[in-house]
Amino acid sequence: MVVKPSEKEEEYYARMEFERKKKIEDEKNRNLAKKEKEQLKGLHFMKCPKCGLGLLEIDYKGIKVDKCSECAGIWLDAGELESVAALEKTGLDKLFSVFKR
Ligand SMILES: [Zn+2]
Repeated sequence: MVVKPSEKEEEYYARMEFERKKKIEDEKNRNLAKKEKEQLKGLHFMKCPKCGLGLLEIDYKGIKVDKCSECAGIWLDAGELESVAALEKTGLDKLFSVFKR
C-alpha cells in the first residue's frame, strides 16, 4: 500500500496532538501529587504516628525531640537519633529525665 503524503501528514499531526495533550495531563498529575502531599502534610504534621494527637516539640541541646501529648511516645526527625547517640552518658541521662512521664 502506498501512503499518500497527506496521510503521513495527518498521522504526524495526530501524534503531535497526542503528545501535546499528554504533556498537559502529565503536568496535571504532577500537580495532583504535589497537592496530595500538601494535604497529607496538613493532616499529619506534628501529629503522633501512633495515636494521631498533637506532638510537643522540646529542644534539648539542639535536638528537637517531639513528644506526644497523649501517649507520651517520643519521636525524632531524620539525623536526630545520631545526635542523641553522640551525647555523653550524663547528657543522655539528662535527656531521659527531661522526657520521663
Ligand atoms: Zn501519641
